[in-house]
Amino acid sequence: MNVPTGTLVPTSIAVLQREQNVPAGTLNQFCTRIQLVHSTSALHSKSESHYAAETLAPRQFMGRVIAVANQKGGVGKTTTAINLAASFAAAEVNTLLIDCDPQSNASSGLGLVKDPERISTYHLLLGAAGAEEALATTELEQLWLLPAHKNLIGANIELVEVDRREYRLRDAIAPLRDRFQYIVLDCPPALDLLTLNALVAADSVLIPMQAEYFALEGISELLDTVERIRVALNPGLEIEGVVLTMLDERTNLAQQVMAELRNFFGDKVCSTTIPRNIRLAEAPSHGKAALVYDPRSKGAESYIRLAKEIIGKHMAAAGAVPSAISA
Ligand code: ATP
Ligand code: MG
Repeated sequence: MNVPTGTLVPTSIAVLQREQNVPAGTLNQFCTRIQLVHSTSALHSKSESHYAAETLAPRQFMGRVIAVANQKGGVGKTTTAINLAASFAAAEVNTLLIDCDPQSNASSGLGLVKDPERISTYHLLLGAAGAEEALATTELEQLWLLPAHKNLIGANIELVEVDRREYRLRDAIAPLRDRFQYIVLDCPPALDLLTLNALVAADSVLIPMQAEYFALEGISELLDTVERIRVALNPGLEIEGVVLTMLDERTNLAQQVMAELRNFFGDKVCSTTIPRNIRLAEAPSHGKAALVYDPRSKGAESYIRLAKEIIGKHMAAAGAVPSAISA
């Protein structure tokens, strides 16, 4: 999509509506709020540049790194990482999605053809390339992707002998932090060295989980890991939230699991839940985020709401016009 650089929200929406058949009104409300926040708190660059070195954003809004992690497989990590990152970008927030999983589903889900020659997370972790060289553009003007390839599986072994092996990703992306408001990391389904690198690089961890009994059991192991990382490697690591995915709210089990989670995590449970929605499952096979593939779908709308909830929380925590976004 050829959205011109630096285009403001209304123009971007007009282009989306024209070229991608996005129905009028779908993104308007969300984007208008974000724009209001930008204009009242000078969060957004006035420059024409993509990277906006002269961005006026306060430090707390720059380069927040969110790792999407859960060692359990198939819980919606990649779907969440892609669609949350796309929703940040649709709100004119410069966003980077980093694929930290050798399955490279986040890369193919955004339409990148597999290419072992392309500079990827593997090269970054091994110090064979800088983060700048690895950035790929996407269909959304303000979303960039740092792709993965299945060769990343080798990094788990190759890194064992390497100096500062847990800090490789953190060090590699340090120069990018000021250029993106959000950096989203898609983790593999394991508590391995790749996930460890992601959690050490991250400011917070967002945990997608399904409303199932076994999901609750796995969570305590993840929380132990987060605690150990906090003590030993990354004292600033926070829990961004727990988001329920593929939810069918009508079932009793879903209600019980939600109640249990709220008992345990309190307000860390995101109020936005993600319903089971076929459009979310179809979108990656077209190489698109759901908000581009079918912006009217319940799935796309729920991830837009999740992005809004997360941005709103950060704004409120920083005391920046919380009322502009909380409604
Ligand atoms: P892995 O652990 O293998 O990396 P994951 O946690 O990243 O998996 P996803 O790949 O996002 O999980 O999702 C697993 C499957 O469920 C995929 O086929 C995906 O399309 C589908 N899926 C995810 N979320 C939803 C949803 N809300 N509605 C319907 N299908 C979904
Ligand atoms: Mg995945």
